[in-house]
Amino acid sequence: MNISFYEPYYTGTEINYIKEAMEQHQISGDGHYTEKVVSLLKNKFEILNMVMTTSATHALEMAALLIDLQPGDEVIMPSFSFPSTANAVMLHGGKPVFSEIEEATLNIDIKDVERKISKNTKAIIPVHYGGIACKIDKIMALAETYHLYVIEDAAQGVNAKFKEKHLGTWGHMGCYSFHGTKNYTCGEGGALLLNTNDEQLLYRAEIIRQKGTNRRKFMLGEIDKYSWVDMGSSYTPSDLLMAFLYAQLESMDHITQKRRAIHSYYENFLKRYVDRGIIKMLQTPIDCTPNFHLFTILCRNERERNMLMDNLKKKGITTAFHFVPLHSSTAGQKLGYHQNDLPLTENLSKCLLRLPIYPGMTAEQLAYIQKHLSSCLDGFGEL
Ligand SMILES: *Cc1c(COP(=O)(O)O)cnc(C)c1O
Repeated sequence: MNISFYEPYYTGTEINYIKEAMEQHQISGDGHYTEKVVSLLKNKFEILNMVMTTSATHALEMAALLIDLQPGDEVIMPSFSFPSTANAVMLHGGKPVFSEIEEATLNIDIKDVERKISKNTKAIIPVHYGGIACKIDKIMALAETYHLYVIEDAAQGVNAKFKEKHLGTWGHMGCYSFHGTKNYTCGEGGALLLNTNDEQLLYRAEIIRQKGTNRRKFMLGEIDKYSWVDMGSSYTPSDLLMAFLYAQLESMDHITQKRRAIHSYYENFLKRYVDRGIIKMLQTPIDCTPNFHLFTILCRNERERNMLMDNLKKKGITTAFHFVPLHSSTAGQKLGYHQNDLPLTENLSKCLLRLPIYPGMTAEQLAYIQKHLSSCLDGFGEL
């Protein structure tokens, strides 16, 4: 049996909505379906303001522009993240400052963040790994004390909550991803949440995403032609993609339910190995409502992790171990980081293994994974 690490889930209505967008000749950005997606998300997640973007990467870049990130500004983020988190800062001459993570959730370690605040710190970009919230309330308090911006990298955190408030709506801004590997997808897509009513900032966000023009005012009939007013780029997704995404968002609860079932299946059969000290599972803190984006286990060491991965591979089961810590990667070394700068992050990433989790997985596939994963873990024995 072959089991891929990830397969996209289709609801079946995507194609109908795309067809409708085509028939209505609404295929570029900000059409009918973009509006529908925005209003669905705003209502369901209680979002103050948001714009759809071509990716979470672009949402992060827009956020860096909106906080006027300047060369020399420092932004604190976990090293355990996707390169986009750091790139958004570096593209504007800013400097990523990498912090450690906590073992229970692999989310940013707030004590380390506080240690790394300097007079050049402008912002914090916390990540919600696997859709389990970091201590975002404490980060907001810290940011207030030190007058910093908080941009949530909630790329994996769509439809997850902390203390009943949706991820992405806690910070000054929040970034969502609708990439093909995420829970709810349109292949490539994202959103920037602007958790403010500051008209100036909201207007600038529209300009940045519309190639530096005031096209938005034109669309609203406030001016009779639009022109270049400021620096910007093209971050507007096609309405064809928003049609696809709308179908997925309509099935959001169904998709989440399917993921939850797989998550519980893993949790139940792996519990005995946790009790025997052979592996650890990530914890879901009490105030978190997760979206079941990932299922991650921690092995006792890198050797066992690699053995597990290789053995499963031989049985046709693909697993993964993202992220490679940013500070220890090639680009991180160019920033002046070295091995052992963040020992906890390095150790955790070496022990980590992510198991397949997606709505299309069948009971047979899960039983097959259980069989081979168990036989390997039984072989490790107790220390
Ligand atoms: C997926 C991901 C991104 C990038 O999202 P895109 O929409 O592909 O640009 C950024 N940060 C994190 C933590 C992610 O998981």
